[in-house]
Amino acid sequence: MPELPDVEVFRKYLNATSLHQKIREVKFHDRGMLKGISGPKLKSALEGQSFRSTDRHGKYLFAELESGSWLVLHFGMTGFLKYFKHKDKEPPHDRLLVTFSNGYHLAYDCQRKLGEIGLVDDREVFVTERDLGLDALAPDFNLAAFKKTLSRSKRSSVKSALMNQKRMAGIGNVYSDEILFQAEIRPESRVKNLAEEQLEKLFRELKGVLRRAIQCRAQPERFPRSYIIPHRRGDGTCPSCSRRLERKKISGRSAYYCTRCQSG
Ligand SMILES: [Zn+2]
Repeated sequence: MPELPDVEVFRKYLNATSLHQKIREVKFHDRGMLKGISGPKLKSALEGQSFRSTDRHGKYLFAELESGSWLVLHFGMTGFLKYFKHKDKEPPHDRLLVTFSNGYHLAYDCQRKLGEIGLVDDREVFVTERDLGLDALAPDFNLAAFKKTLSRSKRSSVKSALMNQKRMAGIGNVYSDEILFQAEIRPESRVKNLAEEQLEKLFRELKGVLRRAIQCRAQPERFPRSYIIPHRRGDGTCPSCSRRLERKKISGRSAYYCTRCQSG
């Protein structure tokens, strides 16, 4: 499922391929994914315009149009972007297809349809309406802000608190496991039981893991050998001590962790 690092990679991809080109045509292959806007309205808002910049908040990608409005994309469980020229390169489940005047296309593919497509005038209003916390990599999401937001989830498990988009935006099931592994904290530990130095370490690892993942273009095969993400599977073993990883359901999601290395 695309989380903050994946969506940041999509944002850079959109920047590298699709900015400042006139949008000739927009097609929807699934109008059910539109949120808060009709197909014809979104089509007329995009056609004839071009994307002039991008932004991201948590797992949401924003692409700014010349008009000042922003196309909003959420990638659900399976979403991704693909820029291509010839039809045979078109991905199989594209829900939105933008065709530029240079003959290239940008497809938003989302097989399981759990993402969303929208249009907003103001990103701040959108973030407020969705009740999203600060973006996990935003400069103003500092240690003080991290502690403050976690203090609202004292009784929940630390993994649930990291994944709660109202507390901080961008972290999901996979990256919360990595952050907790690097911080040597068990996913089910209660927030209220974490010591001051554990909170500080958790915060450092949160920023470090997300930044490193973006540097690795969110591709697990490029991750450092000390990372747990490439081992998150039934028979996976700990990259530090080789013990078989434990799997446990937390907030309905499968957490993977090492009972020896994560003692906090
Ligand atoms: Zn271990």
